[in-house]
Amino acid sequence: MKKLCAAAALCLAALGLGPAPLAFSQEKMPFVGPVYEIFPGSFADSDADGLGDLMGVAEKADYIASLGVRAVWLTPFYPAQSYHGYDVVDYCAAKAQMGGLEAFDALVSALHARGISVLCDLVLNHTGSEHPWFLEACRALSSGEESPYTDYYVFSKTKEPKMHDVPGAPGWYYLGEFTYTMPDLNLDSAAVREEIERIVRFWLERGVDGFRLDAITYYYGGDTVRNTEFLTWLMETIRGVRKDAYVVGEAWTDDATISRLYESGIDSLFHFSLADTGGEIIGAVRNQNGARLARLIAGTDFAGTDAVFLTNHDMARSAGMLTSNPQKMRAAAAAYLLSPGIPFIYYGEEIGMTGSGRDENKRLPMVWGEAAYTCNPPEMADQKQKLQKGVMDQEEDPDSVLNMYRRLLTIRNAHPEIPSGRPVALDLGVKAIFALDYGRSIAIINMGKTSVTVAIGMEGTLDCEGGAALENGRLTLEPWAAAVITKAD
Ligand code: CA
Repeated sequence: MKKLCAAAALCLAALGLGPAPLAFSQEKMPFVGPVYEIFPGSFADSDADGLGDLMGVAEKADYIASLGVRAVWLTPFYPAQSYHGYDVVDYCAAKAQMGGLEAFDALVSALHARGISVLCDLVLNHTGSEHPWFLEACRALSSGEESPYTDYYVFSKTKEPKMHDVPGAPGWYYLGEFTYTMPDLNLDSAAVREEIERIVRFWLERGVDGFRLDAITYYYGGDTVRNTEFLTWLMETIRGVRKDAYVVGEAWTDDATISRLYESGIDSLFHFSLADTGGEIIGAVRNQNGARLARLIAGTDFAGTDAVFLTNHDMARSAGMLTSNPQKMRAAAAAYLLSPGIPFIYYGEEIGMTGSGRDENKRLPMVWGEAAYTCNPPEMADQKQKLQKGVMDQEEDPDSVLNMYRRLLTIRNAHPEIPSGRPVALDLGVKAIFALDYGRSIAIINMGKTSVTVAIGMEGTLDCEGGAALENGRLTLEPWAAAVITKAD
């Protein structure tokens, strides 16, 4: 029996599938991705002022749903000092130019109506230096008055590394691990913890389904024991408000440290060693070594739900790293979309957007191809977007990167054993072949530039992307193609 699998044939079926309802359980996996990361300032502009806004995201809810994602992570949209939003000055508001809380509520409704959860960014390591808490603390120090807010930050009369002069208070210094405009909060302060509980409650009661935690490893300057203790408290606090809230943390560090941070009970931590230019997935594509990557992923044993991704807003975009070659983009996408855990897709990755160098270049406007929604680039961006054909053009083209992502996500979503799986790596004797055995099915990717035929010794039904055929227990995969074989009963 020969089963051919053509990309175009699958395409129409893929487009016809709507999002399945969210699967919540109280077990280890409280919610199943995939998640779409959006930088709202560059996503879609609903009122033609050139700035992306929350209503713009809401108006693109059908597009987001059409990808097959189950949640959206919004990077900070709070009043803040910088365009990136990670220097918050008001934790319980949305920027006026983003449409304020009214637009936020409309966005949550639009996404929830489509079965899509909403995750907000929680920046707890530091505030912006213009936050009223910090301004009041500095005022008190400069006037010699008592103030509860001096306990909110880490002030000292000795200048240690990463400390900055307190404006107006000579001889006083404050900790700002990232920079002087981001003073670190004193996370040991009972008052700060009360504020955090209030912030978490504010958003969860507004309908938010979970959080992405910024800069976990900075909470206590790289002290993993104390970072884990704080995270444990934070998870208890969040769960105390909403038992099934999902929390994913940014700990940009090695797998061993990530393993220890899972002791806090956090749902997920981003798997940084797989991501970025020097990461394992891009490395596997460049070295045409899928077998090694499959062993690494099968060997991952975190005490939570792995959060897998290719790049995020802090990294050069993957299309550039893969020379905008759609076939290599397919293999890289398949490697994390057909892996266990929750995949995070950075907006624009699914259409092949480029951007590297300055952070602003990594957050260039989403290319819709519709003038009405196009945002201005962040002010300091010094690169132009190389991608010419945006969403509108790609919708029409079955061979587009966009439709390739949709089909891969459709395959993933049709196989619940993938997100919750603990697969075994299969050695099929070919270095380029990535193969994970999930029990019910096998995910296979040819991470090489030549067509490969391997003996898998079984029959089954074939879902594929990029060209594959299964005949008499032998699977042929075109270059950079991916397939999932569901084993025959
Ligand atoms: Ca706008």
